[in-house]
Amino acid sequence: MNIVTGILSIVLAYIIFDTGIYFGYYGYPIDLGIFRIPLSIMFLIFGLYMIFKRKNNLFNKKEKYLICPKCKESFSILDLKDSICPTCNIITIDIDEYYKNK
Ligand SMILES: [Zn+2]
Repeated sequence: MNIVTGILSIVLAYIIFDTGIYFGYYGYPIDLGIFRIPLSIMFLIFGLYMIFKRKNNLFNKKEKYLICPKCKESFSILDLKDSICPTCNIITIDIDEYYKNK
């Protein structure tokens, strides 16, 4: 959904930049004049942000791992319920935080 919004935003940025006309909520064209450049840049940045944000979220979810401080077992965040170690029944910690404090 964010990717669709991002692409639409970039297309809109191109139309505004190319024609200098923005079709508002009521359907009639508004001549933007000099404002077409900052407005198209704004839509372009918003579009890229939406696409990049989505990619980043997928990456983070995939790479997140937890470790149990007692038995030293590591788990994917997707396999654990409420971040609790199934063997020791205690809260696990982020694997990056664990090695940072060593
Ligand atoms: Zn454990």
